[in-house]
Amino acid sequence: MKMRVWPILSLLVLAGCIPAGRGPERRAPTRRSAVTQAAPAPALSDAALRQCQADLRRAGVSFQALPDRSFGGGCDATASVKLVAIGTPITNLGAMRCPLALAFSRWVSQVAQVEAERIFGQPLRRIESFGTYACRPVNGQAGRRLSEHAHANAVDISAFVLADGTRFTVKDGWGGEDERVRAYLRAVHDAGCRRFGVVLGPDANAYHRDHFHFDMASSRYCR
Ligand SMILES: [Zn+2]
Repeated sequence: MKMRVWPILSLLVLAGCIPAGRGPERRAPTRRSAVTQAAPAPALSDAALRQCQADLRRAGVSFQALPDRSFGGGCDATASVKLVAIGTPITNLGAMRCPLALAFSRWVSQVAQVEAERIFGQPLRRIESFGTYACRPVNGQAGRRLSEHAHANAVDISAFVLADGTRFTVKDGWGGEDERVRAYLRAVHDAGCRRFGVVLGPDANAYHRDHFHFDMASSRYCR
């Protein structure tokens, strides 16, 4: 059923940026490292999944384990969880493979919140995402390999809200005039590069001008 939206997505892609959950992912040209035909996320053993879930609990994360599902067209969500409460409200999260959920939860508590305190002197009230699972190929182009989103192995972050209600987006903040916002966005982006496989932001390409893409692909790329 989801495959029927591809023609529409392709048109939207041509029209401009489509964030996750609604559009395609594009890998930037491989200038700094080799990322091309990344394989789908490797199967997680039962033991590794149990360890990951234990790590989530130990981190104080409340989550719901999801049954493995295949959605056709090569899209699936296996070894996945639905994050219920990780200490910071996150909008629009769907299924996430457990290692992604763990890395993301740690990035939120150890990076996004810590940097908010350091740079703004206050914690985050909320983080906004464009979603996680989406059955689509890279760039929304038929014939391209599937995006990590098609394996519930990626999350797109679009905006942050401070405790005092100040909200800023990746789209407006990355190249905006507020130096603290610029510093914050770069800090959390760069720290993501040490925690996820592939990190893409506004400097990567036009498709990511309004969000950070974090995924757990086995390949590494940071831009
Ligand atoms: Zn993405």
